[in-house]
Amino acid sequence: MNSNETFDKLERRIEQYRDEMVELQMRLCAIPAIAPSSGGEGEAKKAEFLAEWLKANGFVDIAVIKAPDLDAPAGYRPNILAYCRGKSQARTIWIMTHMDVVPPGELSLWRGDPYKAWVEKGRVHGRGVEDNQQDMVASLFAVKALQAEGIVPASDIGIALVADEETGSAKGIDYVLQNHKVFRKQDLIIVPDAGNETGTMIEVAEKSILWLKVKTMGKQAHGSTPEKGINSFKAASFFIAALNDLYKIYPGRDRLFDPPISTFEPTKKEANVPNVNTIPGEDIFYMDMRILPKFKVRDVERTIRTIAAGIEKKFKVKIHAEVQQKATAAPPTSAQAPVVLALKKAVKSVYRKDAKAMGIGGGTVAAVFRRGGFSAACWSKLDETAHQPNEYCIIDNMVGDAKVYGHIFLQE
Ligand SMILES: [Zn+2]
Repeated sequence: MNSNETFDKLERRIEQYRDEMVELQMRLCAIPAIAPSSGGEGEAKKAEFLAEWLKANGFVDIAVIKAPDLDAPAGYRPNILAYCRGKSQARTIWIMTHMDVVPPGELSLWRGDPYKAWVEKGRVHGRGVEDNQQDMVASLFAVKALQAEGIVPASDIGIALVADEETGSAKGIDYVLQNHKVFRKQDLIIVPDAGNETGTMIEVAEKSILWLKVKTMGKQAHGSTPEKGINSFKAASFFIAALNDLYKIYPGRDRLFDPPISTFEPTKKEANVPNVNTIPGEDIFYMDMRILPKFKVRDVERTIRTIAAGIEKKFKVKIHAEVQQKATAAPPTSAQAPVVLALKKAVKSVYRKDAKAMGIGGGTVAAVFRRGGFSAACWSKLDETAHQPNEYCIIDNMVGDAKVYGHIFLQE
């Protein structure tokens, strides 16, 4: 049998699992796995259920790595690794998804119980069904289909079901990487936790993030006698205008990203005085900056301090900038990395679309791998309803993504 026929068989088998996949979604949805810091119990119960499922469905060498967490009733946060052995052990094709979900938020915005998944117009609705169960279920059934067809893949397949993605991964993949040497540089690591509606985005890079809270201090006075005060709002406005020069100071385009440039934007503004006839003595605004990986965040911070010093001198104010968030971009995964090429081939075959390696403005959990020196790509076909009320997973996407994984498992 040639490889096309093998894939056709596998696709048909995956198609037959459609209802079983929806059923597994519903069962997973009924076990809320919310981080203790968000008011939940963690992932222990969901992990127990999943470990049983893996055992019953032919996965081998199942290991539960427990990251200690005294805030969780179980005392730990579980991370599951499971395998399907291939002909060669030279590399492993990993698919990593996370078990934890975010709280449902305002319940009145939901059309049903967030933990009792329901099907409507080809979609499963419920908390966690897209983020991240869509591709968790897809990856599990891709392996199940291989086994049902009696196909031994060329390489080992590894399934990683991790904890704590939504609150920083310290007890999730970060813990696994720091305490266990299971991943190898030559492994293909797919993290289906980002994507777009057409399945054409393979995320390989990210910008650095710098968020600042900027407090400008002057001196309050009556609106009719500005000379007796120091107008903090006016000084801050000149500062904001001056900060626009950052676009010129840190130029350059990287076509991997959309937009292809670094961005330096004033965003939130706190209220200052409540009345019109007072010169505000204090002003607070915020900056959201997304910086291309080729620039150092440190350098941008230094430039901002220099510009601030000029404003301080000119307007006789004090400017204090406080970091709200700072994340240095991980080294990008190459657009030519084997994991990217494998995904492109599979997406072309299943969805008949050309997928592209791209960068995004914010961090994903794949960065944890990239910082560790591993190539990892984020990919999935999804509508980005994560964290929203009535979160949904398009059943066709779940089944299609399973076929994409199946295609990759068959690639030599
Ligand atoms: Zn997620």
